[in-house]
Amino acid sequence: MMDAWSRKGTTCLRGMLVFLLPAVFLALVTCSGESGEDSGTGQGGFALDIPALYSTAGLILVQVAYEPGAEPFTGTILNGTPSWTVLEDNIRGLFQGRLVEPDVSVPMSLAEMEQIPVQSEETWTASEIMDLASGVWEPLQLTTTVEFFVLFLEGYLDEEGEGNSQVIGVSIVGTPVIAVFKDVIRASGSSSTVLAFVEQATLVHEFGHVMGLVDNGIPMVSDHLDADHPRHCTNEDCVMYWLNEGAADLRLFVQQMLVTDSLVMFGDECLNDTRSYLP
Ligand SMILES: [Zn+2]
Ligand SMILES: [Zn+2]
Repeated sequence: MMDAWSRKGTTCLRGMLVFLLPAVFLALVTCSGESGEDSGTGQGGFALDIPALYSTAGLILVQVAYEPGAEPFTGTILNGTPSWTVLEDNIRGLFQGRLVEPDVSVPMSLAEMEQIPVQSEETWTASEIMDLASGVWEPLQLTTTVEFFVLFLEGYLDEEGEGNSQVIGVSIVGTPVIAVFKDVIRASGSSSTVLAFVEQATLVHEFGHVMGLVDNGIPMVSDHLDADHPRHCTNEDCVMYWLNEGAADLRLFVQQMLVTDSLVMFGDECLNDTRSYLP
């Protein structure tokens, strides 16, 4: 089973960012929910232990690999902040105030990421993504360090034999593995600054899922599960809202960055879940 984000053109986002990036077409990313493939458990070294993540982990280590041509954005965004700071701050935000606040290590430059050979895959199933991850990484299997693995790929998510050109990112359920489909991000045709926001928001959303949101491994403090969209949040201003990735996240992101220096895209309900969770 996977959780996927897709993009879909809408008009509401354009209005939001007209002041910031005039004449840029913005694609709103939306979450299409599961893509129906059950990767199951038994992912070997790639199984994610959520209780350990929230109890014994002293370090969260994000590993990134990319195909040539599918490189992640690693430049700076507003105010000269490295774009990957967004993911780092959002992971930190989930643990803020907990008894153990793990250190978070996120690569900021391509030199800190790994280039892998061209894969020449038109479409990717969950098992193909896991096979690639297994070929690239040997998980540490420590209780004190929890690793997450992000693959930036050419090609599309396989959905019943067809490539889905709308899905930006997927997380493989039960594992710390996330894939981002770079062609889908590029196809939205926006400026690189906007694409960097979209890319980071996608990562934050997928990390939210693998870290247990919403009601996806850790219990809810308040009822904010969207009954129609499993694992998603009812708060429209939260990155885990199924439809709200584009508009609200970018708006919040820009506002918070300029006003409060906070890049955290999760709403209070989701933050309460992870910050209160007792494994
Ligand atoms: Zn989702
Ligand atoms: Zn939320």
